Amino acid sequence: MSNTSNIETAAQYIREGKLVAFPTETVYGLGANALNPMAVAKIFELKERPSFDPLIIHIAHIGQLEKLVQGKDERVYQLAEKFWPGPLTMVLPKSTLVPDLVTSGLPTVGIRMPGNAIALELIRTSGCPVAAPSANKFGRISPTTAAHVKKQLPNIDYILDGGKTSVGIESTIIKLTDLGFQILRNGIITLEELEAVVPFDGHTEIESLSAPGMMKSHYSPRKRLLIADSASMNADKSKAGLISFSGKLESGYRKVIRVSERKDLKDYAVNIFEAMHTFEDDPDIEVMVAEPVSETGIGKAIMDRLRKAAYNWRQA
Ligand code: AMP
Ligand code: MG
Repeated sequence: MSNTSNIETAAQYIREGKLVAFPTETVYGLGANALNPMAVAKIFELKERPSFDPLIIHIAHIGQLEKLVQGKDERVYQLAEKFWPGPLTMVLPKSTLVPDLVTSGLPTVGIRMPGNAIALELIRTSGCPVAAPSANKFGRISPTTAAHVKKQLPNIDYILDGGKTSVGIESTIIKLTDLGFQILRNGIITLEELEAVVPFDGHTEIESLSAPGMMKSHYSPRKRLLIADSASMNADKSKAGLISFSGKLESGYRKVIRVSERKDLKDYAVNIFEAMHTFEDDPDIEVMVAEPVSETGIGKAIMDRLRKAAYNWRQA
């Protein structure tokens, strides 16, 4: 586990323009000095991430925000007051300080203050904002432990180990418009919680231009993943692993991972990617089947991850 001297070493790497994987409360990030285009380029290279998919910048204090964005929107401060540090990313007009590479040429930048003590200390000690996507190969399962990072990015310069992440899925991403906010990616902070601070803009459709990273396929395991429905129920369960939530579908499966004993959707979020990693690595399992949940509250974010993980396998 990480301590102060590990964080100092990692911060030194960041200052030298190298890459560091670090825990946040959502998933592990692959960080670089956000203001150094050469360092940021290494993120795209190591992840094999297409350059049209913009990065989120992580900050440790609100003073850093002011340098990265243009203009002063009171609503940003109200949202920051309520949800930061925490799993909320705000897409805002960018300042000239932010390299175009970070934002894939967009005039806006995604910013968040992570709710994880190691992440905050790393950013503070580095002395710069840290651009960081999830620390996995592009399109693959997100990492929620240091071991998951090592599995996909064995050649990374440095990994700060902070144990398993506490939220487990990526941040909610919002954009502010004249009318209020739009959700670009669902996460554990729900529309209902956001609406208590800023009005909802009413547009639920994600505009493809404003969220270029919102591919249909993402978080994709190397093995077939199905969302449990009547069709997948015909699959050969003797070689299948079930990601179980309600406990009602478990009979006949070779293996079962229960994501929540208390049947709480927050636990599904915490354990969803780890369950996928476990079945991906298990030689007894050929197919994984995930139990769907109703699309309200955090259920929206869970179903978004499951659909994207299943997308490439829909006709397999
Ligand atoms: P991640 O790869 O989980 O760090 O998330 C990055 C995602 O944030 C991208 O794939 C985009 O969908 C979204 N994002 C980041 N910056 C912007 C931006 N300026 N405008 C719209 N979406 C953004
Ligand atoms: Mg990612």
